Amino acid sequence: MTNDEFVFLEDDETTPAPSQPQMAHGIASAWRILVVDDDPDVHEITQMALDGLAFLGRPAELLHAYSAKEAADLLTRETDIAVILLDVVMETSDAGLNLVGHIREALGMRNVRIILRTGQPGQAPEMDAITKYDIDDYKTKTELTRNKLFTTITTALRSYERMQKLDASRVGLEKIISSSNEFLSRRGLRNFAEGVITQLSSLIDVHPEGLVCAIGEHEHLDLIDSHQPVPAGHIQIIAAAGRYSELIGLDLEELRASDIREALRTCMLRKETILLPDCVVLYLYVREGYALTVYIGAPHPVSELDQHLLEIFCSNLALCAENIQLVEKLKRRAYVDELTGLANRTAILETMTAFLKNPDPQPHSLMLVDLQLFAEINDVLGHAYGDRLLCAVGDRLSSVLSDCIVGRIAADLFAVVGRSEELSQISMTAIFKAPFKIDHFELPMRIAAGSTDLFADGQTALDFMKQAYIALKRAKSAGFGQVTKYDPQQAAITRDRAQRLNDLQMALERNQFECHFQPLIDFTTGRPCGMEALVRWRRTDGTFVPPCDFIPLAEYSGLIRPIGDWVLRESLHMLGKIHAAGFSDMRVSINVSKVQLLADTFIDGLERLVAHAGISPRFVELEITESACDIGIDDLEILLTRIRDLGFSIAIDDFGTGFSSLSYLDRLPVDKLKIDRCFVTGLDSDAENDSRIAELIIPLGHRLGLKIVAEGIETDKQARKLRDMSCDIAQGYLYGHPMPENEMLVWLENFKSA
Ligand code: C2E
Ligand code: CA
Ligand code: CA
Repeated sequence: MTNDEFVFLEDDETTPAPSQPQMAHGIASAWRILVVDDDPDVHEITQMALDGLAFLGRPAELLHAYSAKEAADLLTRETDIAVILLDVVMETSDAGLNLVGHIREALGMRNVRIILRTGQPGQAPEMDAITKYDIDDYKTKTELTRNKLFTTITTALRSYERMQKLDASRVGLEKIISSSNEFLSRRGLRNFAEGVITQLSSLIDVHPEGLVCAIGEHEHLDLIDSHQPVPAGHIQIIAAAGRYSELIGLDLEELRASDIREALRTCMLRKETILLPDCVVLYLYVREGYALTVYIGAPHPVSELDQHLLEIFCSNLALCAENIQLVEKLKRRAYVDELTGLANRTAILETMTAFLKNPDPQPHSLMLVDLQLFAEINDVLGHAYGDRLLCAVGDRLSSVLSDCIVGRIAADLFAVVGRSEELSQISMTAIFKAPFKIDHFELPMRIAAGSTDLFADGQTALDFMKQAYIALKRAKSAGFGQVTKYDPQQAAITRDRAQRLNDLQMALERNQFECHFQPLIDFTTGRPCGMEALVRWRRTDGTFVPPCDFIPLAEYSGLIRPIGDWVLRESLHMLGKIHAAGFSDMRVSINVSKVQLLADTFIDGLERLVAHAGISPRFVELEITESACDIGIDDLEILLTRIRDLGFSIAIDDFGTGFSSLSYLDRLPVDKLKIDRCFVTGLDSDAENDSRIAELIIPLGHRLGLKIVAEGIETDKQARKLRDMSCDIAQGYLYGHPMPENEMLVWLENFKSA
């Protein structure tokens, strides 16, 4: 192979005029081109051919390697090589191709452009090698005239530059994205501004040194958590790094470096980013009336690519700044009660948590203050009025309890955290003694309050909040104006009740209830005429829980409704069996509590259940106690009338023990009275006084057209006396205990034969 073949020939096309490299900003780095060839002449000739040429405005700098091995070594040391002009045949016939493989794979240089040069067409590599190794071009050495070389290299450089840009912008974008994320987690605009300097510097690859200024206009400035607000119209340095860090807080006018001052002022004035040979001044519009300028010194000019990245960065930053304001706003909303401006529930809990983590040597307490009848005031005087009242209450609490933290944690519920001593000395009722004057109304407010002491004993803020709630609940049930302190013993009772309620719920789900039946005897015939259904709770261990231990809880919780429905279903089912067994006159009495009567669905349920059981309502009696009168005598009358119209009969249970007088008996549609057991027990004694009540009730009932049942008859004496008084029906252990279904059926059989 001779060199003559390619270099000494000038081609016919016009040789590109050697152009001066454009010296942008006075400096333009040269393209680095590596020539790899074992023939020294090729090096020389290439050098000559490229001499004085500028590629895409930049000069070229040649590097030389005379073997594949030398090239490989050189490539590990040198950076930024844009193009390699590579001989295929060197030490071996495929040394060149092997080197390409090494460059792409081992060295991982994906961007460098490679132009293969072969002595003869026959030495050209296979197509697949060209694609595999991302080879730009291959030329026989004869083809590489000065002109062709220029075009080939220019094309290669263009593609190299594009690849580099892509890489850089990928890195830049990654930086922008990660910095954006970082900003979001930062607190406050000032931190943000500091972050801008760091991120921006790293973006354009300079030492983090710079200034951030903010222009101040009225209220927007509260967004900067600097100690002094920026006076309107002033430009203030709100963040600085590097050698400028001393300047934070200065007014821009006080900045001595006049060039920087001018640059920042111009940027603020023109509202646009300025690129100067030695610095970048970024304009960052945050929102109306509020902008930041960022000065970063740059020892080298910012490339076109970097400029592009800066633009993206700026718009991203503006978004971030916006987000930070949003986050601050949300944070504010998360901790402040909007209406009163007081701490909200979260803030109170956090205050307590902080205290519990780091307890003050002075004991502290939490007090909850509930406004009584606030809902009514709200309804009568309107919500706007209610809101103002709440604000007034908040104001009064925080002005009187100036050493405490006052918050509003629910509509009309305020919380105070303060030293126990202070809280125990102040009188809440005294604080609320003076009425609240709003418009021309003078409103006296009554409160209930509950408090608890805070101990760092492992309980959480929420636990203490619950304790104060429990105390408050007790204060409320005790009446207006009460202030109650949390009592752990009381709490144990409450906990126990919660536990039992849970057990009761489970009992219902697990079918742990049973129905027992106690016979009712007709005094005149001495034969059974009915039975009372009495519910039993059999625990898994076989023990019974007496009804008086769970019925009140079931009533309190409302569970009595499903339990009552269940009892009714069971009783009707049992009655069906009894009728089928031939006791077709037998009736069943069912206890119904006030809570059950109060349910809108009660009558419908009753009707549905008897219909489903195929039992006529005339065989069903409902026993209600005098406490049902709490519903209101008018409503009760309507209710009982409807029930009775359906064919059911009604008995007043435990008669004589309630507060209600006999007067209601006249009004209510009732069929029977059950004289309470305590009056029956009294019949055992010979003292006349003890039998008086029964003696009075029976004739009175009869006069009102009612039948009289005596319950709890245990002795013959009691039975005899009652019969003598013309009592109609008897019930008690003397005749039969409450018994399970089967026993009851057996018990009844005795009467069949009789
Ligand atoms: P109650 O309606 O006054 O029921 C009569 C209670 O007196 C029953 O107690 C019964 O076992 C008991 N007893 C019956 N004869 C005698 C006797 O000769 N001597 C004595 N010492 N006691 C007698 P129990 O079964 O413990 O029921 C207590 C209360 O529980 C019932 O009083 C009733 O108010 C309520 N209850 C029972 N079952 C139900 C039910 O299904 N629904 C509702 N709402 N309450 C029920
Ligand atoms: Ca009863
Ligand atoms: Ca009773």
